[in-house]
Amino acid sequence: MTLEDLPQEIKDHIMRTVGNDDYQEKPNTYSLTSLLYCLRKGYYRKTCPKLLSLEAAYNIYRGKLFDEKWSPLFRHNQVRCTYRCRSVPVTISGKYDFLTYNTTTNTYIVTDLKTTKNLYYINTPSPEYVKQVRFYAYLNSLSQAQLLYIDFGDAKKFQIEVGNIQPLLDELEEKAQQLYIALTSKTPPPKETGWLCDYCEYQTMCNNNDSNSNTDTVTEAAV
Ligand code: SF4
Repeated sequence: MTLEDLPQEIKDHIMRTVGNDDYQEKPNTYSLTSLLYCLRKGYYRKTCPKLLSLEAAYNIYRGKLFDEKWSPLFRHNQVRCTYRCRSVPVTISGKYDFLTYNTTTNTYIVTDLKTTKNLYYINTPSPEYVKQVRFYAYLNSLSQAQLLYIDFGDAKKFQIEVGNIQPLLDELEEKAQQLYIALTSKTPPPKETGWLCDYCEYQTMCNNNDSNSNTDTVTEAAV
C-alpha cells in the first residue's frame, strides 16, 4: 500500500492541514531552510509556489502532528527568529520548536523536533539541521541546542554546541546574496543535484532549465 491508496478523505485532510500555514513570508525575507538546501529550489519556491506532492505533504504533516501536541508543553515554543543580512537587504527567518530548561546549569536549550520514517539509520544528525539549531541558539544568545529525532517507535537526542558561529553566518549571508541576485536578475541559481531531487516538486522545471546550470553535489541527510 502507498499513501495514494489512503481514503480520499484522509488525503484531502493531509493536503488541507499542510496548506493551512498562516505564516505569510514578507518581501525580501528568506526562510532559513531555503538557504540551507538547494538554492535553486528556494528560487522556484519564491517565484512559482506549487502544490506539494502527497508524499512531501505527508512528511510535513507528520512533523506538524508532533509539533502541535508537544510544543505547547513548553513555555517558549514556536518562536520565530530573524536575522538582517549585512550585504543585501534581506532578512533570514526561521522558527524553532521549543526551549527546554536544564536545571543543573540553569540554562535554556533550543530544541527542534525532527520526525523521520526510521530512526534506525540515523546515527548522526543532518548537517543542515545542526546549522538550523545553532543559528536559532545564536540568535537567542544561547550556547546549547539539541535535535530530537523521533519515529513512531523510538526517539534519539543529539546535543549540539553552538561554537564559533561566524563561518555559518558568512555561509548564510553568501547564500542569501546568491538568492537575492538570482531573484532580482530572474535567473535560477545552479542545480545542486542530490538526494533532495527525489522529493523535489520542481524536478521537471529544473530539468528544463538545465541548459543554463552547473551541477554541484550535496550529501544525503535525514528527510
Ligand atoms: S530537482 Fe534538485 S537541483 Fe533541481 S531544484 Fe529540485 S533539489 Fe534543486
